[in-house]
Amino acid sequence: MNLFRGRAGNFVKILLHLIWPINCPVCGRPGEVICCDCIRSLFWKEVITHESENLHIYSASFYHTDVKDIILGFKYAGLRTLCRPIGQAMGEFLTRPDDVDYLIPVPLHIDSTRTYNQAYELALGLGDTWQINVIEPARWAKVIPNHAGLNAIEHKRLSKDAFKISEDIADLKIALVDDVCTTGTTLLRLAQVCEDSGAKVKCAYTLATVRGDL
Ligand SMILES: [Zn+2]
Repeated sequence: MNLFRGRAGNFVKILLHLIWPINCPVCGRPGEVICCDCIRSLFWKEVITHESENLHIYSASFYHTDVKDIILGFKYAGLRTLCRPIGQAMGEFLTRPDDVDYLIPVPLHIDSTRTYNQAYELALGLGDTWQINVIEPARWAKVIPNHAGLNAIEHKRLSKDAFKISEDIADLKIALVDDVCTTGTTLLRLAQVCEDSGAKVKCAYTLATVRGDL
């Protein structure tokens, strides 16, 4: 029995909201971290793909207003609870890769003041839906200027040694996960260091992209 369906379901949601006052940040519906309808409305009509130096990147949405608000909320408003349900929904929207052993998120910047990594939380959601485990072997090798403004020129300057791998990932088949793809350089740099460590990087997934070839 689904307690959240029908009029009785609404009553349960209202009760839940009284006990645990949360609202969907998109539509304001009570009792929802974010509602399913609003998650789906964030996604583009089809999966957006683009290829950068042989790395296929699949995104669920363009970086439009609502998605931008959500991603900025992940980063600066502590909307951690949204990440995993959105990742789970991404897993239903995107096609599950056949031959991937693990998902690896882009790590949190060294100087970040956040207590969580939104890319990791999204990866956990994807992993829930796809039944693929998430590992965090990657670290930033140095402090990188904050990219809140999605400065493409800055991203392109990202050096080839931007990341380091702290665990043995040799022979693993992996997919990378990030919240947003700007130029693709961050994912390319991470893919390269993973390949240099002996892993096979199959592809990458992001919630949003500022580019893409439809
Ligand atoms: Zn909603």
